[in-house]
Amino acid sequence: MNSIPEHRSTIALTRAAIANGTTTARAVAEAALSRIEALNPRLNAFLAVTADTALAQADATDARVRAGEQLRPLDGIPVAIKDNLVIEGVATTCGSRILENYRPPYTATAVERLCEAGAVIVGKTNCDEFAMGSSNENSAYGPVRNPWDEERVPGGSSGGSAVAVASGMAMLALGSDTGGSIRQPASLCGVVGLKPTYGRISRYGLVAFGSSLDQIGPFAASVEDASVALRVMAGHDERDSTSSEAPVPDFADLESGVDGLRIGIPAEFFADGLSEGTRECVESGIERLRKRGATTVDISLPHMKYATACYYIVATAEASSNLARFDGVRYGYRAEGAELLREMYMRSRSEGFGPEVKRRIMLGTYVLSSGYYDAYYDKALRVRTLIENDFRKAFVECDVILTPTSPSTAFRLGEKSGDPLQMYLSDVYTITANLAGIPGVSIPCGTSEGLPVGLQVLAPHFGEPVMLRAARAVEV
Ligand code: GLN
Repeated sequence: MNSIPEHRSTIALTRAAIANGTTTARAVAEAALSRIEALNPRLNAFLAVTADTALAQADATDARVRAGEQLRPLDGIPVAIKDNLVIEGVATTCGSRILENYRPPYTATAVERLCEAGAVIVGKTNCDEFAMGSSNENSAYGPVRNPWDEERVPGGSSGGSAVAVASGMAMLALGSDTGGSIRQPASLCGVVGLKPTYGRISRYGLVAFGSSLDQIGPFAASVEDASVALRVMAGHDERDSTSSEAPVPDFADLESGVDGLRIGIPAEFFADGLSEGTRECVESGIERLRKRGATTVDISLPHMKYATACYYIVATAEASSNLARFDGVRYGYRAEGAELLREMYMRSRSEGFGPEVKRRIMLGTYVLSSGYYDAYYDKALRVRTLIENDFRKAFVECDVILTPTSPSTAFRLGEKSGDPLQMYLSDVYTITANLAGIPGVSIPCGTSEGLPVGLQVLAPHFGEPVMLRAARAVEV
């Protein structure tokens, strides 16, 4: 079976077909489940398949159709959930051995809202351990493979979710994005991946990595589908005090075009390190927007050169603190045979965490330690403010910013896994949005040597409507 579907039915078409009786939600769910059964042994995108729940949810949609009720926005749509988002009673591993047998007693708000909108949850997707990575090779459960070339990585950390949508095993998937983990895999797999503004979607039930950076967002086959999912999930949640009370727009002006829109092109994102094929595709995307009436403005984000260093201090510092809770007492794996409490902590953590997670805990603990705090953590926070200010200034001159999502197309399995610094550099174009808290979306914009290339649109805080409008215009 070819793992790239020829054409992917959109949410609107599927819902309409279910509503008018051309198909049933059960048939759609069964098709997704059988595609998972056929492709997952090769692609390793799912860690758990929730077939019973999926069929029950699909049957509930079909019952609504029979009762003549109006369909909800996601009725009958098969959705996959990254395995760092909790669903009551369903194993949540975060791609780690330490949580191998963890069954959460509650469900994440984002997932709950999808279900209330009619979604059919088909399973939990593989990811880099605790969302740390850019290739999915850091999962304790084996790497995910890119459906465009199975010898290549799908990107990370939400690689399983990107592949689920790219290969038609689900129509929508959720990921989390701390430094690019939705946008980068979306780019490498040829799908749309959206990181909303910090605070737009509740993170209640997302296993925390870097709390000042983490956001949940959707993968979809089209900008329209991503915006439907965003709309369903967005909005304040009293269980997450960082979720914003800003009103949620309906994103209904997707089709209103880009005439007169000012598009910022930051020179720093087109400098050395960008592969030629990617540059050509992104430039042709920019050209398309110009033809549709947008104007381009050269802008500068001068502190971008410090972004990777800044991110890997802030993110590791927060991770070292967030991951302290995995101690063998409250969650997951506990080492056998330890005699003293301290020995039990140490052995549980040493045996339960993989090498990248340990590296980050050590780095994060170091940058927060007394004597080094000022030199590293405190300085990184100052740089972060400079990066935020760069964006603030840029958005005076332009409405959205266009960049490549990733410096290159999907790399080979093993190509970067021995060199953490090389791996960290694959996020250079995505991490600034997390540091500044602004929204970003990656949209497919052609292929280079047979592999998909993604273009990134960035917008000011809560600028998702204009961001999606520009993204839609790249797509058509
Ligand atoms: N690749 C980046 C990292 O390893 C980003 C990960 C993410 O966004 N979760 O930290």
